[in-house]
Amino acid sequence: MSLDDRAEELASDLGVDKQEVKEDLENLVSYSVPMDEAVQSLRRKYGDGSSSGGSSSPTAKDVADVTTESGNVTLTGRVLMVGRRSIRYQGEDQTIYEGELADATGKIDFTAWNDFGLETGDTLQVGNAGVREWDGQPELNLGESTSVSKLEDPLEVPYDVGGDRTVRDLSPGDRGRTVEVTIEEVERRTIDGRDGETDILSGVLADETGRLPFTDWTANPVIENGGNVRVENAYVREYRGVPELNVSEFSTVTELDRDIEVGDAVAADSIFDAVVGGGVYDVELSGNVIDVRDGSGLIQRCPECNRVVQNGQCRSHGEVEGEDDMRVKAILDDGTATTTVVLDRDLSERVYGGTLEEAKDQAREAMDQKVVADSIREEIVGPEFRVRGHLSVDEYGGNLDASTFERVEDDPADRARAFLAEVNA
Ligand SMILES: [Zn+2]
Repeated sequence: MSLDDRAEELASDLGVDKQEVKEDLENLVSYSVPMDEAVQSLRRKYGDGSSSGGSSSPTAKDVADVTTESGNVTLTGRVLMVGRRSIRYQGEDQTIYEGELADATGKIDFTAWNDFGLETGDTLQVGNAGVREWDGQPELNLGESTSVSKLEDPLEVPYDVGGDRTVRDLSPGDRGRTVEVTIEEVERRTIDGRDGETDILSGVLADETGRLPFTDWTANPVIENGGNVRVENAYVREYRGVPELNVSEFSTVTELDRDIEVGDAVAADSIFDAVVGGGVYDVELSGNVIDVRDGSGLIQRCPECNRVVQNGQCRSHGEVEGEDDMRVKAILDDGTATTTVVLDRDLSERVYGGTLEEAKDQAREAMDQKVVADSIREEIVGPEFRVRGHLSVDEYGGNLDASTFERVEDDPADRARAFLAEVNA
């Protein structure tokens, strides 16, 4: 078949302009991409939305064998969970169904663009599903050209069927999750949404295993009333470096008729584990302070945006009359890795051993505000501290906003007991 014929066939399959397809195809072939591969990649590029035309009949696959290069596939799988979500696609609101499908070999995320009546636990024969790459992983696309039939006999899979999770097990990208939590903090805010001003709720929720921030885009009164609630069909995304539970119009929220014992902060095994694991909303770390970074001690903040002002200059607002504040940026090291720990004014005053006013007096006398950071450095560099707070991670490493910062008293008897416990474990 000539390139022209292939372009013609592909254009009609994909419902796109032939000339455009032809140019793309010529371009790929000119880079020595084999014709079949070029066709597959254009099918992916234009999102194979129509019936599969002759050349790429999908092959039956195990889930573990689906790769981002698979083109269209046919497979049998069990719906581990499915959630509904509304998105705006090409200017239109559209309801999509997202979830996970598994067989004995593995599991894979899917997005259904049509309502196939999918329910958690269903065993499906899926014909001609598209495969697209999402975050480096293959994901199934069930659309117009996909056939879905439900099988009577449930497929045995080595995974939990259903969306129930503990707070600690939630991670960004999760969909269709059910949690039973207590609302610890909630606040109503008005935001400029995609359909104008709208009220949302945000706050902190918790269960036996941990705490997380949440956003409820529907301002559900059950959540606003606080107490213990069951939230079904929620999704999780990353916000400011930590997972956040999102309650949408498709979520169900009911009052819960049981008590929830909220656990303590999760103590991380090591700083390395915590930082590699990504953000944690409420975590406890310990280690030695090995340094106090520049920008610690007495600082000035912009009255407009709260940013730290350098030499009377705010990065956004130019020359401003800075407001005095105190903070500490300490480096905590436990031998596995380091993280920056940020102490607010309250905790900074405590480690300094004096108030902000006293710090200003010291700086005035010395005619140098660095003396305050030096005093703090003398106090905290060296010893071991236990820190609790919320950890975010970016390309520069971990950043822990501390809510508590306590010296670990070096009690030899405790050390001995801990050592013995370890030996006898
Ligand atoms: Zn500013």
